Amino acid sequence: MIEIHNLCKSYSHGGGTVHALSNVSLEIAPDEFVAIMGRSGSGKSTLLQILGLLDVPTSGSYRLFGKEVAHLAEDELAILRRQTLGFIFQQFHLLPRLKAIDNVGMPLLYSGRTGLAHSPERLMQDVGLADRAQHRPSEMSGGQQQRVAIARSLVNAPRILLADEPTGNLDTASQHDILELLTQMHQQGLGVIVVTHDEEVAERTHRIIRMQDGEIISDKRQARRGAVPVSPRINSGANRGDEQASPSRGRYALELFKEGYRAVLANKLRSALSMLGITIGVASVIAMLALGRGAQESIESQLKSLGANVIVLRPNVARVGGVAQETGSPARIAFEDIAWVRERIPGVRAVAGNVTGRGQVSYANRNWNTQIQGVTTDYATIRSATPFIGRMFTAKEAQQRARVALAGLTVVRELFGSENPVGQFIKINKVNFQIIGVMPEKGGTGYRDQDDVIVIPLQTAMYRLLGKQFVDSLDIESDGVVNLDDLGSAVQRGMSTRHRVPVSLQEDGYQIMNLADIRSAVSATSETMSALLAAIAAVSLLVGGIGIMNIMLVSVTERTREIGLRKAVGARSKDILFQFLVETLAVSVSGGILGLMLGVAISVGMSTLAGWSTSISGFSVLLSVVFSVFVGLVFGIYPARKAALLNPIQALRHE
Ligand code: ADP
Ligand code: MG
Repeated sequence: MIEIHNLCKSYSHGGGTVHALSNVSLEIAPDEFVAIMGRSGSGKSTLLQILGLLDVPTSGSYRLFGKEVAHLAEDELAILRRQTLGFIFQQFHLLPRLKAIDNVGMPLLYSGRTGLAHSPERLMQDVGLADRAQHRPSEMSGGQQQRVAIARSLVNAPRILLADEPTGNLDTASQHDILELLTQMHQQGLGVIVVTHDEEVAERTHRIIRMQDGEIISDKRQARRGAVPVSPRINSGANRGDEQASPSRGRYALELFKEGYRAVLANKLRSALSMLGITIGVASVIAMLALGRGAQESIESQLKSLGANVIVLRPNVARVGGVAQETGSPARIAFEDIAWVRERIPGVRAVAGNVTGRGQVSYANRNWNTQIQGVTTDYATIRSATPFIGRMFTAKEAQQRARVALAGLTVVRELFGSENPVGQFIKINKVNFQIIGVMPEKGGTGYRDQDDVIVIPLQTAMYRLLGKQFVDSLDIESDGVVNLDDLGSAVQRGMSTRHRVPVSLQEDGYQIMNLADIRSAVSATSETMSALLAAIAAVSLLVGGIGIMNIMLVSVTERTREIGLRKAVGARSKDILFQFLVETLAVSVSGGILGLMLGVAISVGMSTLAGWSTSISGFSVLLSVVFSVFVGLVFGIYPARKAALLNPIQALRHE
């Protein structure tokens, strides 16, 4: 039962106010067949939309089945709408990307497929389109589309059907079909209210209400004429209860996901592009974190080879304007200092001298550029670098500046492949050397491959190969009793005195580092690097997120009419919000998963192709997945809310 009393609706429009309805009062029984007629602009659609709960009146009362609904909140209207009313539009308003059958079933997404609802297949049959179920709207004639729309309006078994010029866009034959369908529905107990210009349509009804300038000017009941009894085909929801059970949550969520994915798939290129943003973001987070962590791990393992009792002495190279000034600084380490430190400084167990340089090594026709490291025999013990195969050079060989060398694993791989290098002769900077051993594996770092090295006796390196007069650094191992700080200052003092480093230069004289110093210096740098890498990655994720937001905003605008329609068939704001969120989540989560795979591939690629060590942590995987969900939510909520807050009828009018 529809009862309206003194209903007014006005629109403010460009400063002025349009009174679309003024003081309309009307009663319509639930089983009537009513036509509303009148000139264009007389307020017919406005009235029908208010009757259909798609719009709210400015003032007045509207009682639907005894319940005052004029000022209900939007969600309550949506629920009432889908329980009692079916709406048919002049423009059909089918969703172009859904098949006919899915268009018919669409309202069930929001109402749930309860015992009262009709099956879409059955309704397609009833409107005579069983063979068109799999067609899309664009593949059907106007009349067929309108029949699909009628089937859709019936799916929730409504009590009253409202049609706004349902035949306005159709040819005469289709007009007739539609009219036939409406008549049938009325015969099966549904109330039908139809806005029309067509006298033929009006003739079929039992009551004609004429409107002019927002007012009812006549309301005539007429005896039915010319109505041919038709076999009841459409099963009306006459036996339905007032309350419909709400859909089960799991099912509802599943349907929403399907719907979201369908929308994503409908715009493949656009979705793929916005997914790409997230994919690149997540991939770079994974790869960057893997690189940072890999660097840190290999630095740690490199530092482990340096014993805890070891300090390193090196000349503090004076810097002028950031440029190292090698010459002129009296703080140097001479070859003789190695023995001197070992013998004269108390608490020293072993001392190893160290020089480094680059060299071109060749074997047969293969060439390799590598680091040349000159060391003394104590190096093997201090750095726990006992040869992996072969042997260390002897003190005698060292003294004789013998041309013997130990190769790191990378050099062995590059020059010898799988051949045993021990005993072979190679050339280092065109000088012949014999390989006597292979250094144990140390692992690569993010910056440098520790195994890409050739170790030779210190004096050979200094005098025969690199032309150095001084030693670069000393590794000094304590006896384990003396305090390392004390040992350090003793060495510093002794060396300064021995080399007559002026007091003014003491600060810049010799530098002592112990393991803890080195570790903290190195890890500070690598942490900075990791943070920088992570920041770059975060920026790319942000950009990806903004890309998603952009796409979703476009999508909301483009699909405004779709949103209006969904609301018209009973979707609440919440449903629309969820649906758009599901869409953004679908895009961002699939983007995230792709990014995860890409990131892992890049990390593996970097370590196998470029030789950088990378290490993927469970944390970074978790972080990137959580982040892509987060990005989807954050950047999806705004467009989704924008969509959800649209008024159904304004949304439907959107061009
Ligand atoms: P009908 O369906 O009988 O052609 P409508 O109900 O659509 O008429 O419109 C009635 C009056 O209200 C018209 O003068 C129209 O211009 C005005 N109107 C309808 N909708 C709006 C709106 N959203 N904003 C401003 N004016 C509107
Ligand atoms: Mg109209």
